[in-house]
Amino acid sequence: MNDVLEKPVDTHKIREILNANDGARIKTWLSICSRCGLCAESCFFYLTNNRDPRFSPAYKFKSTLAEMYRRKGNVDRDFLRKCYDIIWGECTTCRRCSMYCPFGIDIATMISTARTVCQSQGVVPDGLERTSVNYRETGNQMGMSTDDFLDTCSWMEEETGEELTGLTIPIDKKGAKYMYCLNAREPMYYPQDIGMAAKIFTVAEEDWTMSSTGWEATNLAMYAGDRALAGQVVKNMYEKAVELGVQNIAITECGHAFRSAAFEGPYFAGYAGGKPPVAVVHSVQLFYEYLRDGRIKIDPDKMLTEPVTYQDPCNVSRNGGLWEEGRKLTAFLAKDFREMTPNREHNHCCGGGGGFIPMGPEFKKRRMISGRLKADQIRATGAKIVIAPCHNCYDQINDLNKEYNLGVKVLSFKEIICETMIVPDKFKPVEGDDEE
Ligand code: SF4
Ligand code: SF4
Repeated sequence: MNDVLEKPVDTHKIREILNANDGARIKTWLSICSRCGLCAESCFFYLTNNRDPRFSPAYKFKSTLAEMYRRKGNVDRDFLRKCYDIIWGECTTCRRCSMYCPFGIDIATMISTARTVCQSQGVVPDGLERTSVNYRETGNQMGMSTDDFLDTCSWMEEETGEELTGLTIPIDKKGAKYMYCLNAREPMYYPQDIGMAAKIFTVAEEDWTMSSTGWEATNLAMYAGDRALAGQVVKNMYEKAVELGVQNIAITECGHAFRSAAFEGPYFAGYAGGKPPVAVVHSVQLFYEYLRDGRIKIDPDKMLTEPVTYQDPCNVSRNGGLWEEGRKLTAFLAKDFREMTPNREHNHCCGGGGGFIPMGPEFKKRRMISGRLKADQIRATGAKIVIAPCHNCYDQINDLNKEYNLGVKVLSFKEIICETMIVPDKFKPVEGDDEE
């Protein structure tokens, strides 16, 4: 970002963005905020920064987006630099504050709009900009080539196939019930995640496929404020699903990928009515249905006996509506469940959302300070295991674990289901099979 700080600000472009977003919603929100301060206590940044009023949600949008409108877009680089700190360093767009504002003002949407303005001037965290370059060049945040991706799938098929007879990882299967879409960190750093998903789909006898393109479900361009790119990323997935004629898109255990695919993506991609062209389901919902319907059975002797708590990812629970499904699924897997306080849609952000983790080391210190609230919540449960069905939550809680010596293990649902499910005999490899 430093190399753009000397460039002149394109105020015409800023005015264009502000005008395009000057609809009834934002106008109303900007005008009705009564400065009552009720949103302050809802924000984990405020609570972990000595209740400094500059960390209150209302201050954040008033000193950024509202100011951009007040100045009619005539802002300078110093101003944008100050906005940069606030909109990326002091808000994860978790949308908790909106629930506590008596007028339902959606502060996260306003912060996102301010991000779009800053991004248009090159004022965007380097870590996020790197992922945008990767999305543009390869369609995924990690910059993985199609060949590498397909090689990883076939490697996982071979390796996991040794554990389960009949396991395959279908690619581009037409008309499948589910097209399973990923977080690119999985094929890049956690390929076993693909193997675990394949095991679950195999035991559930699901009609599923993966896709050679459009498999990336994450959308960090949404957090970088690059709406055009965010639209393209999600369109890649939708168009592939339509081309294959699948019935649903299933999203891996990633929160913002679900928010993008199910809720915000259609708007970014310009789909009428704000609906995706193919139904979108999150893994939490899908896995819960497998267990509820008996398609996967859990061995009672393998259920987790250590105390377990559940991290509600903002974009799975509050913004995705799946807080009960997460708990019902946990009940199949764990004998000693302990709720965090608060929980469900009221749970706090882990502190790693909104693009915070990929923003990189520049933001790590703030991430650890604001994450103290989550660390305190976890410690108070006495849990030894934290279930986190979201990559950002998973990584952030692992970092908090080290920072605050929590002594917990962070697990995804996939990991627990694969360890505890009963594998029917027909899927058990017969000894000596591979010697023939
Ligand atoms: S969206 Fe979340 S992080 Fe941002 S101001 Fe509101 S509560 Fe704080
Ligand atoms: S709670 Fe709503 S009205 Fe009150 S200060 Fe916050 S944003 Fe403004």
